[in-house]
Amino acid sequence: MDSRTIGILGGGQLGRMLVEAASRLNIDTVILDAENAPAKQIRASALHVNGSFSDGPAVRELASRVNVLTVEIEHVDAAVLLELQKEKPELEIHPAPETIKLIQDKYLQKEHLIAKGIAAPESVSVENTEESLKAIGSKFGYPYMLKSRTQAYDGRGNYVVSSAQDIPSALKALHSRPLYAEKWAPFTKELAVMVVQQKDGSVLSYPTVETVQTNNICSLVYAPARIPDSVQTRARYLAEQAVATFTGAGIFGVEMFLLENGEILLNEIAPRPHNSGHYTIDACATSQFEAHIRAVLGLPIAKNGLALSTPITNAIMLNVLGGDTPNAELEICKRSLTTRGATLHLYGKTTRPGRKMGHINIVAGSMYECETRLAQIQGAEEGISS
Ligand code: ATP
Ligand code: MG
Ligand code: MG
Repeated sequence: MDSRTIGILGGGQLGRMLVEAASRLNIDTVILDAENAPAKQIRASALHVNGSFSDGPAVRELASRVNVLTVEIEHVDAAVLLELQKEKPELEIHPAPETIKLIQDKYLQKEHLIAKGIAAPESVSVENTEESLKAIGSKFGYPYMLKSRTQAYDGRGNYVVSSAQDIPSALKALHSRPLYAEKWAPFTKELAVMVVQQKDGSVLSYPTVETVQTNNICSLVYAPARIPDSVQTRARYLAEQAVATFTGAGIFGVEMFLLENGEILLNEIAPRPHNSGHYTIDACATSQFEAHIRAVLGLPIAKNGLALSTPITNAIMLNVLGGDTPNAELEICKRSLTTRGATLHLYGKTTRPGRKMGHINIVAGSMYECETRLAQIQGAEEGISS
């Protein structure tokens, strides 16, 4: 479909699923990550680079071998991407390096969004001192959320400050990191929307989904979210507005909080494919990964391809996390093989407790049917999980 080669910074499961989507369209991909990373396992290429996406020289090496650069993770060396953009005008980088730089500092990201009029929890930068954190407690009340500005994922970098007594342990846990504080968002549900920005700046979105976090890690996604249509529409609108404030093409994952009074606040944006969009592989004509590949190359995307494909009306995604004993997670994987409408995706990773090893997509003609199938996979035939 396109003779240009795409270089991907990062070769984890998101990179692997980007490679799958690109390969189906005869589009070449080259990966920068450790040897035998998940994405490299499924695509033989003499051009892959062994190294880290946060190492400048390795990023430059990848850039010298491809026509288009993109990312599967935001924690990359953004300074080098900015340099490359100036040095090599013929190299396309998506999303834009300044977008990646802005988003990778969660406090700057929040300030940017709030300045653009996007509703988000009030945020302030803090000093790593007890006085500073006590002052926040007086301002926001308790609990409030203390967050690392950078290098955060799966809640590693967050600390719930429940009272002034918590402050010393919060500082101990996050002492070496640049911090900011967020007002507590008393959400009833967490929502997410995948938004794809095309090269001309126009944005398209997938349905609003509901995400369930267990120990700060996404465990389940319900598509569409089990909320009224009018709320789904407002969430999509907020997500599209937010993504449109950033430059560069590609898919963005937008995480939001739905409050009891119906208000929707933006939590954070990922400038890449996102766990909440994995269901799109089996439920939509164009997956989030294919939409990203098409967007960065400027290939067309049909709006209808981002909707659930008839006769699928509902989907659930279950993350497969490493268990306490090696390969314990294979039990649910085995059950998925005999469950109607279920598709197993494994990432080629070594098992470790809590590690994202794969996911299972379940599709059906009703949410009730999806939930019944989920219960079967989870080994709880008698109960329907909510
Ligand atoms: P990710 O893996 O999604 O990148 P992260 O480490 O960047 O995670 P956040 O998304 O900021 O972390 O927070 C993780 C979870 O903590 C959220 O999904 C939500 O459940 C909770 N959380 C975050 N911010 C707040 C807040 N202001 N009020 C209440 N809960 C919050
Ligand atoms: Mg995050
Ligand atoms: Mg998050």
